[in-house]
Amino acid sequence: MPPITRREFIRHGLLAITALPLGAGILSSRALAADLPLLDPSSPQAQALGYVDKAGKARGHDAWKKDRTCANCMFFDADSAGCQLFPQNRVAPEGWCQAWNG
Ligand code: SF4
Repeated sequence: MPPITRREFIRHGLLAITALPLGAGILSSRALAADLPLLDPSSPQAQALGYVDKAGKARGHDAWKKDRTCANCMFFDADSAGCQLFPQNRVAPEGWCQAWNG
């Protein structure tokens, strides 16, 4: 492996310093999301997307399909139970809404 040049050393150092706050921000947002209240299915925001806290309750909804839950939705963060569409709340992993996306 060739020795690292001064320019490369400085560039890598700057990248690392730039990435630090980003990484800390992601960690702290996950920690914060874990402290958020569970989304109330009767709230206007939840009802706007047909959110239910148990996916089976949505059976019969046009967008509902078996085995689709928050836990396997791309908007769900398993570490915090947060959902990108409901940033003020956590959602139930076994829940569902019509914005589900795999
Ligand atoms: S977008 Fe996905 S994770 Fe969020 S409530 Fe709907 S199904 Fe659940």
